[in-house]
Amino acid sequence: MIEDMEFVVQKYGGTSVGSLDRIRQVADHVASTRAQGVNVVVVVSAMGEQTDDLIAMAKELSPNPPRREVDMLLTAGERVTMALLSIALHERGLKSVSLTGSQSGILTDENHGNARIEKILGDRIRHALSDGAIVIVAGFQGVSPKTKEVTTLGRGGSDLSAVALASVLGASRCELYKDVDGVFTADPRIVPGARKIAAMPWYAMSELAWAGAGVLHARAAHVASRFGLAVEIRSSFKPQVRGTIVEPSTELDVAMSTDKNGMEHALVHAITCKQHMCFLEVDTGTAEGDATGNLHAGILESLWHHGEAPVINQQSSGTMRFMVTVKTAGVIQSELSAGRMGSVPKSTKISLPGTAAIGVVGNGFLQSPETVAKAMAAARKAGTPVFWDVRNQVLTIGVKDEDSGAVVRALHDALIG
Ligand code: ADP
Ligand code: ASP
Ligand code: MG
Repeated sequence: MIEDMEFVVQKYGGTSVGSLDRIRQVADHVASTRAQGVNVVVVVSAMGEQTDDLIAMAKELSPNPPRREVDMLLTAGERVTMALLSIALHERGLKSVSLTGSQSGILTDENHGNARIEKILGDRIRHALSDGAIVIVAGFQGVSPKTKEVTTLGRGGSDLSAVALASVLGASRCELYKDVDGVFTADPRIVPGARKIAAMPWYAMSELAWAGAGVLHARAAHVASRFGLAVEIRSSFKPQVRGTIVEPSTELDVAMSTDKNGMEHALVHAITCKQHMCFLEVDTGTAEGDATGNLHAGILESLWHHGEAPVINQQSSGTMRFMVTVKTAGVIQSELSAGRMGSVPKSTKISLPGTAAIGVVGNGFLQSPETVAKAMAAARKAGTPVFWDVRNQVLTIGVKDEDSGAVVRALHDALIG
C-alpha cells in the first residue's frame, strides 16, 4: 500500500495506443485524471498490431526462433509506447517516468513466452508516485530473478500486468481501456445485437475469460478475483461512457434467465468462441496407475506453458482427449513422442482440426437440463456439432470453424435474446 496517496491504474490496449494521435488522446485523458487530484499508473500495450508484426519478422528469419530472443524482441513493442506516452505527457507540462517491467520489479518465472508473475517489488513505482510523477509501465513483461532474463507474460498479458500492479500496490481503482465499451453478452463483432453487461462478479468474468471471451486475459481475471480487486472495463474511444464493473461479488445487472418462470433455472451470462481448436488424443497404454497420472500431469503442465485452458475428456481408462489449439496440439504431440514427459504414450492422435469451441457461460446447467436441450437444438439448427461437454458453469459445443459465427448468433438468440 502507498500511504496517503490515492492513485488509479489505467491500462490502454494496442488499439487504444495504435497511432500518435491515439497516444495524444490517451495523454489528454491521463492528464485530465491527474487534474482531478488523483495520480496515475499507466500500463501500456504495444502500438496496434506491432506484437504480431514483430513475431512475423522473427519467423521470416527462422521458423523456430529462440524463445529468449523472441521475448527480447516483443518487449521492445511496449517500450516504444511507454516512452512515447511519457514524451506526450511531458509536452503537457506533467511529470512522468516510463519503466520497463523489469525496472518496475515485476518478477516472473523463467518460462519465456508465457511467464508467470511470482512477485512484484514495485519500489521504483512507489518512489516515483511519492515524487508526484505519473508512472508508465510497459505491459506484458517482467524479469526472471533466477536467469536475469526479460520475459513476457503470454499474449494479451498487459491486462495481467495492470491487474497485478493494482492489486499489489493497493490502487483505489483499476480501469482497463479497450476498443469496446465493456463486456458484452457475446463478441459484438460476431453478434451485433449483443448487450453490454453493466456489472458482474469475478466468478462469472473468470469463467467467461477462460472460455474464450477475448475481452480480458484469463489469468488477469484469476489474479483480480484472488485479490478482491474491482476493475472497470471501458472504451478508450468514449472515456466518458461507463463500462462494465467487475467486482468480487455483485449481482449481474440483468437477469439473463433462460426461463422467466423458474427461479431455479440456469442463468446464461454470455456466449464465447475459440477458433482453430482440435482434439489431442493420448492413449497411455496402461489401464491405471502412476505412469498414466504422471503423463497426464506432464501434459497439463505443458498446456499451461502454452497458455491453454483445455476441455478435458476421459475416453476410457487409458485415453484422454484434450481440446486445444491445433498449433499447441502439434507441439505437445512431438514432446510426447520424444519422451519429454516421462514415458512415451502408446499412441497420440490429432482429431477434428478446424473445430471452434463455443462456450455458453452461465450457472446451473446441471440443474437445468431444459436449458442444455435448448442450446443443443439451437446449435444443431445453425451448424453440425461434433462435440458436447456440460459443466455447471460452462456448456462447450464444438462446431466447424466456418459455422462458428452462425452458431454463436443462434445460441445468443435462443438463450439471451
Ligand atoms: P486490448 O485493447 O486490451 O488488447 P482486446 O483487443 O484484447 O483489448 O479485447 C477487446 C476485444 O475483445 C474487442 O474488440 C472484442 O471484439 C473482443 N471480445 C470478445 N468477446 C467479447 C465480449 N464478450 N465482450 C466484449 N468484447 C469482446
Ligand atoms: N502486446 C501484447 C500482445 O499483443 C500484449 C498485450 O497487448 O496485452 O499480446
Ligand atoms: Mg488484448
